[in-house]
Amino acid sequence: MKALVYHGPGQKSWEEKSKPVLQHPTDAIVKIYKTTICGTDLHILKGDVATVANGRTLGHEGVGIIEEAGSSVSNFKKGDHVLISCITSCGKCVYCRKGMYSHCEDGGWILGNTIDGTQAEYVRIPHADTSLYLVPPGMDEEALVMLSDILPTGFECGVLNGQVQPGDTIAIVGAGPVGLAALLTAQFYSPASIIMIDPDENRLAVAKKFGATHLINNASSNATDSINKLTNGVGVDVAIEAVGIPATFGLCQEIIAPGGRIANVGVHGKSAELHLETLWSKNITITTRLVDTVTTSMLLKTVQSAKLKPEQLITHRFKLSEIMAAYDTFSHAAESKSLKVIMSNE
Ligand code: ZN
Ligand code: ZN
Repeated sequence: MKALVYHGPGQKSWEEKSKPVLQHPTDAIVKIYKTTICGTDLHILKGDVATVANGRTLGHEGVGIIEEAGSSVSNFKKGDHVLISCITSCGKCVYCRKGMYSHCEDGGWILGNTIDGTQAEYVRIPHADTSLYLVPPGMDEEALVMLSDILPTGFECGVLNGQVQPGDTIAIVGAGPVGLAALLTAQFYSPASIIMIDPDENRLAVAKKFGATHLINNASSNATDSINKLTNGVGVDVAIEAVGIPATFGLCQEIIAPGGRIANVGVHGKSAELHLETLWSKNITITTRLVDTVTTSMLLKTVQSAKLKPEQLITHRFKLSEIMAAYDTFSHAAESKSLKVIMSNE
C-alpha cells in the first residue's frame, strides 16, 4: 500500500509500505476512505515533535471501512463505516476511567506519532472498540473527518474549559481550523459577542460567515486597544488561545476581564510569560488540555441534525495519491486560502 512517511525534519514522501496487520486481538485494520492534514502534522515536519521517528506514517484524522477486526473486537465488524478518533483509548486504565482519554496509559495521541497514522491506504487502530465510532448511515463522511480532531479540540479545550456562558463576551485568538471549530461550537451557548482575532483577512472573512460578531486584524492594529474599545475597558469573559506562541498567550492575559477564563488550546513549543504581577488579583482561571474526545458522540449528533455544519471548514479536495500537493496547499494557507483539505482514497 502507499503511505505518507516522515523522514526527519522537512522530509516526507508518498511511498510503498507494507499493509498493517492485526497485532492484538483488540485491533482493527481500517481501509481509509477520507483523511486530512492537521496543523500538528506541519509541526512534526518542522521537527517540533520529538516522539515522531523517521519512517512513521503521519495522520491522526479520518473515516474508513473496517477491513478486518481482531477476535476481541465486539462493537465493529468487517464492512462497518467508522470515524477514527485522533485519541486512542483502552477504556480501562485509571485515566480512561476518569474520561481523560488523552492520557490513556496504552493510547492517547499515538496515531501518526508513536504508531503509524491515517495518511495511508490502510491503518491499524488499537483498542478499536473504544477508539472508533460507527458512522450512521447516510451521513456526509467528509464532514465527519472534522470530528476526528478539530471539532472536539476546539470544543473541549476552548469552549468547555473556557466555560462559555449565555451572554458572555468571548475572544478567540487565531482563526485557523481549530479556532474556527471553537467559534462554531461556542455558539451552542449563545455568547453575546464573539471577537475573532487573526492577522489573515481571508480567515477573518470566513469567521464572519461562521458567526463571529467582531473581527480584529492583529497585524494591522493593536488587538488589546481594539478589545478595550469594544468592551469599555473591561475585557472579555473568555479568551481562547488557538495559536500556540508566546505573543498570543500574552494577548489573552491583556484582554481578560476580572473573573474571566483563559482557555489554552494552542500547541506551545516555547515557554510563555505569565504576568502574575497584573493577574494575581483578577480572579481569573487559566486552563490547559489535550483533547480527550469525550464529546465526539455528542458532536456527531449535532452534525447529524445539521445544528453544526463542519463541512464549511473544507476548502480543498484531493485524491489520496495527490497528498504531496495537498500538503503544499495546506502549508501555504495564506496564499491558497486553505482551511481543511480532504484527501479521498478512491
Ligand atoms: Zn490534529
Ligand atoms: Zn486507557
